[in-house]
Amino acid sequence: MRRISVFGATGSIGESTFDLLMRQGGPSAYRTVALTGGRNVARLAVQARALRAEIAVTAHDECLPLLREALAGSGIEAAAGPAALIEAADRPADWIMSAIVGAAGLAPGFRALRHGTTLALANKESLVTAGPLLMAEAARHDARILPVDSEHSAIFQSLLGEDLSAVETVTITASGGAFRDWPLDRLAGATVAQASTHPNWAMGQRITIDSASMFNKALEVIETREYFGISPDQIRVLVHPESLVHALVGFRDGGMIAHMGMPDMRHAIGYALNWPDRARLPVARLDLATAGSLNFHNPDPVRYPALDLARQVMDIRGLAGAAFNAAKESALDAFVAGRIGFIAMASVVEATLTQLSAGSALGNPATSLDNVFQMDAEARRIAEGIMAERKV
Ligand code: NDP
Ligand code: MG
Repeated sequence: MRRISVFGATGSIGESTFDLLMRQGGPSAYRTVALTGGRNVARLAVQARALRAEIAVTAHDECLPLLREALAGSGIEAAAGPAALIEAADRPADWIMSAIVGAAGLAPGFRALRHGTTLALANKESLVTAGPLLMAEAARHDARILPVDSEHSAIFQSLLGEDLSAVETVTITASGGAFRDWPLDRLAGATVAQASTHPNWAMGQRITIDSASMFNKALEVIETREYFGISPDQIRVLVHPESLVHALVGFRDGGMIAHMGMPDMRHAIGYALNWPDRARLPVARLDLATAGSLNFHNPDPVRYPALDLARQVMDIRGLAGAAFNAAKESALDAFVAGRIGFIAMASVVEATLTQLSAGSALGNPATSLDNVFQMDAEARRIAEGIMAERKV
């Protein structure tokens, strides 16, 4: 029986993964090693009971008593805290979903690779902050990383049987987010609730806000570079309001292969779960006759400054991805807490990168995860300082 673990099981990706696992036989088809969550321990316990997990882990120590209570009588172990997450990743499994949100997802996924696991990677921050380390660790242990981000799953599928040297361009699409059609002068007053509604995809709150600011696509451009080794000048972004074409790969003979489907993450998750097979999945089928017209346009750099910042990050490379992501997470926390406005997020990230590039080791390659965590902490400190001094 295939051994599986799900990190971030209670989130949007985690719930879709749970849904597919249950539909594909649940505990009679999979031996569930570990399920992890954050504050939603009641839900974590329900999932752990349904899949008969060996252990359930909450990221927060203070949530442990409630988790224990919810698991009482089940025989399922309970644990809490970042060290327990690593310990859970150390329990060998054949397939692991990495779906914790933010830089917190890096360490458990990285640890799992040492067991030669197949890592289904939704946590794009892992590749943005530590791409070369992660890919080298996978190669060292003969582990496999499968992309779960819809655009990257689409590129992966479009490249099946193709030679990377024949690729001219890779285009990822963006819905344009909640404010795609807003007049620019209204963006400064955009509220958290407004930024948290996505036109096409149902996702966690943080990635939904990142879609409105296009920071999500900025992370995905870097993710494309790190996962596929495609050079930055070959990577394009197109705004595609219908979100039916997820990515397009252009080849040197002038042909393009596009990957299409309804916007439902269970496609990409199910693809990674069943790879190299294609299983029947419970996603709606795309009917192009009723879909109407498909629209594409270049992103407006004034509306979406995050995309230019991603280009700068790829030019510097080294630890710049870790700094970029950490500054973005700090700015996002501040926006959600009502401390800064929507458009200030990009200014905070830009100012943080400027300050860091003045002296620090931004361009140095990371030699260990500790390097990455140090840069992450430094960038958060600088971003907080910038916001405290109201420089943006
Ligand atoms: P959610 O916010 O919905 O879920 C995040 C999960 O991580 C929850 O299980 C949450 O627990 C847990 N969690 C939160 N903080 C921590 C922490 N500090 N340590 C450990 N666990 C934590 O996120 P999504 O499912 O939307 O996204 C997950 C990842 O997948 C992100 O990296 C995102 O960019 C990526 N992704 C998501 C897509 C989507 O459609 N949602 C699409 C493509 C990529 P709890 O809720 O119990 O507190
Ligand atoms: Mg995506």
